[in-house]
Amino acid sequence: GISKVNEHYFGSYSSYGIHREMLSDKVRMDAYRQAILENPSLLNGAVVMDVGCGTGILSLFAAQAGASSVIAVEASEKMARVATQVVKENGLSWSENYKGDDHYTGIVKVVHGMVEELDKSLLIQTHSIDILLSEWMGYCLLYESMLSSVLFARDKWLKPGGAILPDTATMFAAGFGRGGTSLPFWENVYGFDMSCVGKELVEDAAETPIVDIIDSGDIVTMTVVLQTFDLATMKVEDMDFTACIELEPNSTTPMESTVWCHGVVLWFETAFTSRFCKEKPTILSTSPYTSKTHWSQTIFTLKEPIALSSENNPNAAKSATVGTDSRAAAKIQLRISVVRAAQHRSIDISLETTA
Ligand code: SAH
Repeated sequence: GISKVNEHYFGSYSSYGIHREMLSDKVRMDAYRQAILENPSLLNGAVVMDVGCGTGILSLFAAQAGASSVIAVEASEKMARVATQVVKENGLSWSENYKGDDHYTGIVKVVHGMVEELDKSLLIQTHSIDILLSEWMGYCLLYESMLSSVLFARDKWLKPGGAILPDTATMFAAGFGRGGTSLPFWENVYGFDMSCVGKELVEDAAETPIVDIIDSGDIVTMTVVLQTFDLATMKVEDMDFTACIELEPNSTTPMESTVWCHGVVLWFETAFTSRFCKEKPTILSTSPYTSKTHWSQTIFTLKEPIALSSENNPNAAKSATVGTDSRAAAKIQLRISVVRAAQHRSIDISLETTA
């Protein structure tokens, strides 16, 4: 059965609000639709499994793209009911097309249950699925993510060499300046100084990351890759990792002055690469440099800002006067660990400066 933690998790997916938010996220929708509809040689005649179908939207795209059959699995009872009805009312339901033998002759079959608990009574043979399709990404990619369920489905149901959509995921990091914190806003409220509020908010933010949009103009370092996942080959243990990164000033860093890095922002991309999507490889990005999505970015504020000088401007180091360290570094070295919390869908992220 569905455990307590999961009951809460799937309960949250029973509210239509979250589905509306996902269906209204144009960046997300356009990426999935393009990947599914514009790769006909992949989708045509394929047997597809949609892990966590929600309203059924990705299964409908797959049916539209010419899939021969789609198994749409959904753990939330309410959403499984909704998807069943939606599929039926759009003339794509399995029952109308199912011919009653062991072969897939229908279009979309919605199955209520966790993908981990699907069984043979569905007439699906293990390793018989051509394409595993899922939208599993959480905040900061892995928070409340259902990636482990997708990997479970891959190992049990996907054909050897079968496609997984999307097939890669990459996490990125960059440093942001004062403008990315609450400090500037509270400093001057109609001419009054409320900076005490800003300081308190920064202290709180140093304890708990915030999901919000960061203005790309507030980013003061180059972007680095934190981690890359290959969905076709990764193991569930790879979701826990430690990455050591170096953040150096970006080109917007003024030559004459020291830049202060107040924190680190993380975001992710998933890609439908040419490995499976030969006709139209597609990227779904949640970067601050592109149109915003419902994932926003994840903002980690440092307790103390770090001075950063442009490498080709050694004089900038001397102008550093604020903070605990009077010497500005050319690079910020960070160790970032991402670990799944035990018995829970959340993750623990720790961030420490290593130099
Ligand atoms: N595919 C839909 C919904 C994505 S949200 C869309 O793109 O709009 C993820 C959905 O997966 C939720 O409805 C959630 O209830 C379901 N889900 C999460 N883990 C699951 C699991 N292990 N088995 C089946 N469904 C799951």
